[in-house]
This record gives sequence, structure tokens and C-alpha cells, in this order.
Amino acid sequence: MTRPSPAELARLLGDGWDPTPAAPSGGERASHRTPVAGEPATADAVWAALDGVPDPEVPAISVVELGIVRDVRVAEDGAVTVTITPTYSGCPAMREIERDVRAALVGRGWPDVRIETVYAPAWTTEWMTDVAREKLRAYGIAPPRAGGATLVTLRRAPRAGQAGTPSEASAAVPCPRCGSADTRLQSAFGSTACKAMHTCAACGEPFEEFKPI
Ligand SMILES: [Zn+2]
Repeated sequence: MTRPSPAELARLLGDGWDPTPAAPSGGERASHRTPVAGEPATADAVWAALDGVPDPEVPAISVVELGIVRDVRVAEDGAVTVTITPTYSGCPAMREIERDVRAALVGRGWPDVRIETVYAPAWTTEWMTDVAREKLRAYGIAPPRAGGATLVTLRRAPRAGQAGTPSEASAAVPCPRCGSADTRLQSAFGSTACKAMHTCAACGEPFEEFKPI
């Protein structure tokens, strides 16, 4: 396997990361530790690498955008510890995610990877980034609605500020394809337990919803 050059890496990362350590100015002591061949593991570099690991169930979004990577620590000796909180307990994708995270970091030249799984606080769809929500929609999956679980959206009356919204509309999941709120829940479970199936009366298409929890 050939590793990309530092310049190539910087281009791929596209985050302004400079592959060349800043030259110490004047007699100032460089803040960098002993220079090493290749890219040193830093928390920022690890986060960037993890942002390239797709969620196995929704490859359009990364595990970072999904919000399941809670913490990244890099020890003095370069050992990387990644803390992950599973989305849904027993989600079969978690084994796959752990394997992909490890493979991504080892592939970047950081062989000493530890993955810690933390269950509390429990993952919530609130941790999903706005970018991830947009990517889900573009992928044809209704993103989880902000504000918590599906059941609490079955309000009797519209909330203040939802002028002119019929009460049923607050429970309907907008169609990710045409945006219509004229949709119906078809099944509480879609291709995975994390998703529900809806149908859109406006465009006639079925679609999945990433269920809010
Ligand atoms: Zn539609």
C-alpha cells in the first residue's frame, strides 16, 4: 500500500492542515515534539481521519457526523484512544464501525488503536450534525427531527409559532424527495431498526426516516 504524500494528504483533508511543521521563528522553541517520519497522530488528524469513515448503514454520512465518536485521545507514545457511543443498543453495525475505525487509523500509520465503548450518556440523534442531516435528506432518508423521540411529536395542538400548521402535520415526517408533509407512517421499522418506513402521498414514493431518539 502506498501512502499519500504529505501534500496529497493536506489536499485530501482540505482543512487547511499544514503538513510541514511551522519553522520556529527567531530563537523561539518549536512547540512540536521530535519530528517523526510521516504524519504524527494528533487529535485533529485523528478526527479528520475518522470523518472519512462512513457509517455502514448510511454511507453518505461519516461516523463523526453521526455523532457517535465522543472523544479522541492521543498519548505521548502515539497510542490513539477513540471513544464511541453506539447509536442503538445492539445495533449490529457497531462491530463493523469499530473495525472500520481501526482500519482507517492503522491505514494512516497509527497502529496503536484502542476503541472504548461508552454507553452513558446514551447517544441521541441530537448529536448528529446539521451537515449529516442534509446529507441524509439528499440521500433520500428523512433526517431525525430535532426535539426528541417520535412519539412526543403526536401533539394534539400545534406549538406556538407553527402558524397555520394542522395538528396532524406536526406528526408527519416531511418527504425527503419532494418536501411534502402529506406522508404516512407505513412501518415503524425500515431496512434497519434505526429507521421507519413512510409513504408520501404527494409524490407516491416510499421513503425511510432515521428515527429520532
Ligand atoms: Zn414526496
